[in-house]
Amino acid sequence: MTNHELWQTAQGEIELSISKASYITWFQNTNVSSKKEGQVTIGVPNAFTKEWLENKYNKLILKALRSVSKEIKEIKYIIDCENNKKETPKTKKTKALKDVKPDLTAKEQLNFNQFKVDRKTNLNARYCFSNFVVGSFNELAHAAAQSIIKNPGNTYNPFFIYGGTGAGKTHLLQAVGNAITKSDPSKKILYVSSERFTQDVVSAIADREMEKLKSFYRKVDVLIIDDIQFLGGKERTQEEFFHTFNALYENNKQIILSSDKPPKAIPTLEDRLRSRFEGGMIADIGYPDLETRVVILKTKLKELEIELSDEVLNYIATNVQNNVRELEGALNKIIAFIRLNNATPTQDQVVKILKTIILDHKKRISHKDIIKVVSDFYDIKIEEIINRSRRKEMVRPRQVAMYLLRTELKSSYPFIGNKLGGRDHTTAMYAYEKIGKEKEDKGLLSEELETIRQQLYRNQ
Ligand code: ADP
Ligand code: MG
Repeated sequence: MTNHELWQTAQGEIELSISKASYITWFQNTNVSSKKEGQVTIGVPNAFTKEWLENKYNKLILKALRSVSKEIKEIKYIIDCENNKKETPKTKKTKALKDVKPDLTAKEQLNFNQFKVDRKTNLNARYCFSNFVVGSFNELAHAAAQSIIKNPGNTYNPFFIYGGTGAGKTHLLQAVGNAITKSDPSKKILYVSSERFTQDVVSAIADREMEKLKSFYRKVDVLIIDDIQFLGGKERTQEEFFHTFNALYENNKQIILSSDKPPKAIPTLEDRLRSRFEGGMIADIGYPDLETRVVILKTKLKELEIELSDEVLNYIATNVQNNVRELEGALNKIIAFIRLNNATPTQDQVVKILKTIILDHKKRISHKDIIKVVSDFYDIKIEEIINRSRRKEMVRPRQVAMYLLRTELKSSYPFIGNKLGGRDHTTAMYAYEKIGKEKEDKGLLSEELETIRQQLYRNQ
């Protein structure tokens, strides 16, 4: 008997014991996602349904399941956003659904569609693959993630994802965690930010509880650390992480990391960690192209059951180019308009609504920002990039800065030469051509340029 058949039969029983309204409210969009050694895992669409089923209907569900298969002893509930996506009743019925929940308080209503962060794993169920758009900008990272889910610890280890802010790193990392939990709920998964890891190390030292920390981090099957670049410069934390890494790695436990830059480019990262990071699979996430940006917008709109004309979608996708978070931000503004006015905006209104985002973006980047971001990226001082030093390690960052002044701001060559230490305009021209040519090779330089560009436009 498949899981699907098992659940259908059990649901048939349940339907007979409760009111139609309750049945529709709590059992629609649920499924049996796995069954193992007497334990059945039921996937539900949100935290509220999970609580409700656990507290109110657990006995009934267990009874119904046991009437199908005696060996079932225990039920586990997991929030799984794939369960939100099923082709269920369209608008009309959705309304009816809302009507059948009069017994919920306002707060409960509010909670109904919210995802919660799981206390044990720190995973948020809103991040899953069914709402993750794959395009050429992230397909390598996505493909690697898929094979890790099938066989955690034994394919790509560690798995290192890098890309600028808003590129979708956190989403992908958490979706992997959620997918592994779903296919094998017995796996211990832990998602932490690198700040959290650092804090844990610092307090363990202060409280003399190093052993506790070690055993906590070393007993997991999948360790996911987000924004690992923040370990840069933190020696004691790196030391501890190095040992944790080795302990997990030797036991074939999966390690997944994200960063805003490739391991090579993380300043003050110990070599031994760098080489560990480089020993597995490294995948970058770049920028979505125009077509993919449209698909992303469409996906988000579908989730919200809102429609916008192709003209409007194209306008947003053409003008908001930097990352997925920014696209979402633009869309949220439009949605706010729709909610407020109860009408879809015309093309002219869209232009107005998004004016601040789009103008802001162009206005906010100055030659100073470029020079600052480039120096930060290469971990050198602004003065070093500007002054007349010909030291080799300064030449390339300086050329990169010149190149970006030209591509991002369309600055004139004399202006560029002037801002970078009063150099001649021919130096700026040469830098622009040299970097442009090298970028064609699609090697490290083109990755660097992309990361720098993303950092330049972050927080928009
Ligand atoms: P990062 O961690 O790289 O800064 P996030 O993972 O936080 O970026 O993504 C920013 C926002 O964009 C999130 O709301 C996320 O759900 C959304 N997002 C990112 N990538 C995608 C994608 N490929 N498809 C759909 N939504 C995405
Ligand atoms: Mg993130």
